[in-house]
Amino acid sequence: MSTPVTFHRDAPLRARNTFGLDVRAPLLVEVSDADALPALLASPEFKNAPPLVLGGGSNLLFVEPPDRPLLALTGRRVRRVGEPGDRLRLRAEAGVDWHGFVLDTLARGLGGLENLALIPGTVGAAPIQNIGAYGVEVREAVRAVEAYEPAADRFHRLSSEDCAFAYRDSVFKQQPGRFIVTAVEFELSRNASPRLEYAGIADELAARGVGLPTARDVADAVIALRQRKLPNPAVIGNAGSFFKNPIVPAGRAEALKADHPALPLFASGDADTRKLSAAWLIDACGWKGHRIDHGSGDAGVSAAHALVLVNHGGATGRELFDLARRIADSVHARFGVALEPEPRIIGATWTPPA
Ligand SMILES: Cc1cc2nc3c(=O)[nH]c(=O)nc-3n(C[C@H](O)[C@H](O)[C@H](O)COP(=O)(O)OP(=O)(O)OC[C@H]3O[C@@H](n4cnc5c(N)ncnc54)[C@H](O)[C@@H]3O)c2cc1C
Repeated sequence: MSTPVTFHRDAPLRARNTFGLDVRAPLLVEVSDADALPALLASPEFKNAPPLVLGGGSNLLFVEPPDRPLLALTGRRVRRVGEPGDRLRLRAEAGVDWHGFVLDTLARGLGGLENLALIPGTVGAAPIQNIGAYGVEVREAVRAVEAYEPAADRFHRLSSEDCAFAYRDSVFKQQPGRFIVTAVEFELSRNASPRLEYAGIADELAARGVGLPTARDVADAVIALRQRKLPNPAVIGNAGSFFKNPIVPAGRAEALKADHPALPLFASGDADTRKLSAAWLIDACGWKGHRIDHGSGDAGVSAAHALVLVNHGGATGRELFDLARRIADSVHARFGVALEPEPRIIGATWTPPA
């Protein structure tokens, strides 16, 4: 049997972060069996340096190379763990590819994850920021998250409530480094009603001549929409949306809307607040398609989507961070709204605009 732990020293990370940043990690350890974590993390190399967990690197910005060991969970088993009524419970290990897992659930005739098709990354990272797209968040399908807590040397099984899921947020994002997610248990239905309310899905299905869509039809529509709208990291480095949509008090949102009638407002799930479109705010400040004219000249904003920062090839993480800073400052100066980055930033601290 192969050993569950593999060490890589001075590991190149260019292919392991979707910005394509050319940084190296002093140590990267791959672990295929979560049972190996307690002994590994008690070893001298980890004892005083809690690891940074690396999934697919699609929600990370390395401003500096990591100053502590990286840990990648490579277990990729998926198994059934229950079948209540028309529902099926699946447990997937952290290293499973997210989009591959969505396709696997569709092939089993299960609905619930189709709106989250084609999001890059791993199953283990999905609960970290409660991934969401096309009107659905992963929390709706998560029954439990299994995690190891190095400081307490304990394995946990967290219920969905324990995870404190919110918009692009969870206990894991609030307390980075506390938990290593080792597996996620999902509950999915064979009779789920498709969720078509989000802009674009119904039109895309109509254009394809689909009348009564199955979950697979919805996934195909979402995949087509995403391929048209979002730059592909295999072609141009990016981490998807760089900023969260800001949530502001309802009165403030209405006042902004009165001044800027084209500003889209969304429900936030709370009657007292509204979600604003960060893409609209950034576009209104003239950033779409902008490319920096100093340093490498390779950091920029996608010409297709104002929310996506891109690496045209040789950008550094510092250049992307500084560009993000300038974008947030300009949005704050014009609209009084503070933007917050979505990706985890390594080697720099984001401070809200003053
Ligand atoms: C083109 C593109 C489109 C995207 N679209 C969306 C979208 O529609 N919706 C959306 O929500 N996100 C989107 N993202 C962001 C990203 O794909 C998701 O956040 C994804 O879940 C990150 O997975 P990952 O494995 O790459 O995580 P990584 O980038 O490797 O890590 C992200 C964070 O999670 C932590 N982490 C990762 N795995 C674990 C684990 N097992 N235990 C504990 N912590 C862990 C890391 O330490 C880090 O803090 C997009 C990104 C790209 C590049």
